[in-house]
Amino acid sequence: MRNTTEKVKSGEPDFESQKSFDEWKQKIKDAHNEDGTPIHPCPDCGKALVKSVSRKGSDYYKCSAKKADCDFFTMADDEGNPEQK
Ligand SMILES: [Zn+2]
Repeated sequence: MRNTTEKVKSGEPDFESQKSFDEWKQKIKDAHNEDGTPIHPCPDCGKALVKSVSRKGSDYYKCSAKKADCDFFTMADDEGNPEQK
């Protein structure tokens, strides 16, 4: 029996491999408009919020700043935008 329901690896920022680091860089790129402005700026620090999918399959947004600088985190709402608290 083959397990075909393998989930896409979530983008946890622990770069144990170059691949996950590259994926993270791509996510940060995707979080910006073509002119370099964040699509969803972080309400705390203004950096781009990066969309990821949790292991349970729900979307969430995480600040792209270093965790020591800002650890803002929010779930995505029904329209896929960062949930405002
Ligand atoms: Zn932030």
